[in-house]
Amino acid sequence: MSTIKTTPDAAGARRAVAVIGGGPAGMRAAAAAAKLGAAVTLFEKNKILGKKLRITGKGRCNVTNDCQLNEFMANIPANSRFLWSALSRFSPENTKELFESLGVPLKTERGKRVFPVSDLAGDVAGAMIKDCRASGAIILQEKVLSLDIEDGSIKGITTEKGSYIFDSVIVSTGGLSYPLTGSDGDGYKFARAAGHRVTELEPSLVPIVCEGSICAELQGLSLKNVSLAIEQCASGKTVFLDFGEMLFTHFGISGPMILSASAHIPDIKPGVYEAKIDLKPALDEATLDARLLTDFGKYANRNFENALDDLLPQKLIPVIVGLSGIDPYKKVNSITREERRRLAGQLKGLRIKLRGFRPVEEAIITRGGVDVKEINPKTMESKIVKGLYFAGEVLDVDGYTGGFNLQIAFSTGTLAGESAANRE
Ligand SMILES: Cc1cc2nc3c(=O)[nH]c(=O)nc-3n(C[C@H](O)[C@H](O)[C@H](O)COP(=O)(O)OP(=O)(O)OC[C@H]3O[C@@H](n4cnc5c(N)ncnc54)[C@H](O)[C@@H]3O)c2cc1C
Repeated sequence: MSTIKTTPDAAGARRAVAVIGGGPAGMRAAAAAAKLGAAVTLFEKNKILGKKLRITGKGRCNVTNDCQLNEFMANIPANSRFLWSALSRFSPENTKELFESLGVPLKTERGKRVFPVSDLAGDVAGAMIKDCRASGAIILQEKVLSLDIEDGSIKGITTEKGSYIFDSVIVSTGGLSYPLTGSDGDGYKFARAAGHRVTELEPSLVPIVCEGSICAELQGLSLKNVSLAIEQCASGKTVFLDFGEMLFTHFGISGPMILSASAHIPDIKPGVYEAKIDLKPALDEATLDARLLTDFGKYANRNFENALDDLLPQKLIPVIVGLSGIDPYKKVNSITREERRRLAGQLKGLRIKLRGFRPVEEAIITRGGVDVKEINPKTMESKIVKGLYFAGEVLDVDGYTGGFNLQIAFSTGTLAGESAANRE
């Protein structure tokens, strides 16, 4: 292996900074450090930078959430206080200014979610790459194999092509989710080898596996404008409540509302939680009963199983008919008030028991990571190894859906990059 000395530069005055991982955290760190005059080299094992960034927000990239810091903190389930300095240094407002200045106009949608006007995540990735290059960062396509540490200080890194000497190293290798995008857990190995604790790694913002056969029967059915409650079976306590869109799959439930719900379920185990879906949230019980009477009047001579066409998508009808306990062949005009009440109960509260989460590889983000107690929140520097910094999803911080996770990457990346460049 050849050793390439990259620090200090000819003038001897520039800090040599390595950034490992060219995702949103790494690209932001590289640009921020280079803008402060550091000699920055960004190492990315993929041919292209920002592979995951390009598929975010269903290809539209929800870059941030246009909210104040207190509201932001409320969307970070654990370790939110650790992020205070990073978010104060580089806020959602700063993210908006950055992309506008890089020629990516933005728009704000429902829930303060910010997207590029073009609806193209590729525009966001392209602008970040341009920013890195324009700031003077060098980009190398090399997989980093290990950190080189001596006497509690970072000395450099070793890649598949050789060893490099650096003053500072920023680890921004992402989490474990969607490993085909490149984030397959190397950063956790680097952290452990450096003496850091890595907290339990779990999926978050992830589809949910359910008990029973209902989901498989409804596979492919997407529901819009339904309300969802996740309840603890034993106590009936609601841990999540929302209104929106969901999808049935062969294993259970998915879709935007389900991914959000998963982040609010603390300790999922078979039979502990159930989803309660209100299929008619706009109708209270009296209005729903009036609606049933109207439909049953219209289809008075039909069998019950053929009388719900105006009320429900076709796939749902046999499931709801089965759960209602009403004979499917009963003539609608002989259905009793009590039977109607039972039917309305199913429509306002379709219950499905949850079994567990899909694996972390299918999650939007990884919960857990490098223990933030061992990281200085004002700089992102390791408290164990001098000159070693962490940024982005590799850290034990994660947010709900809505642009919070990319903002965490941008904020921690900026702070790590600037701190590494300014290191005494
Ligand atoms: C499908 C999907 C949609 C999402 N949509 C949104 C959204 O709309 N809004 C939002 O806020 N968040 C979204 N997220 C989450 C968001 O993408 C991540 O939180 C974010 O990408 C984390 O950034 P990062 O830079 O820390 O890590 P990553 O983006 O994972 O980047 C890490 C990089 O490090 C590289 N790397 C890893 N190991 C090495 C190594 N040994 N050597 C060299 N390079 C290495 C990887 O190849 C990768 O390019 C989404 C996630 C997914 C999976």
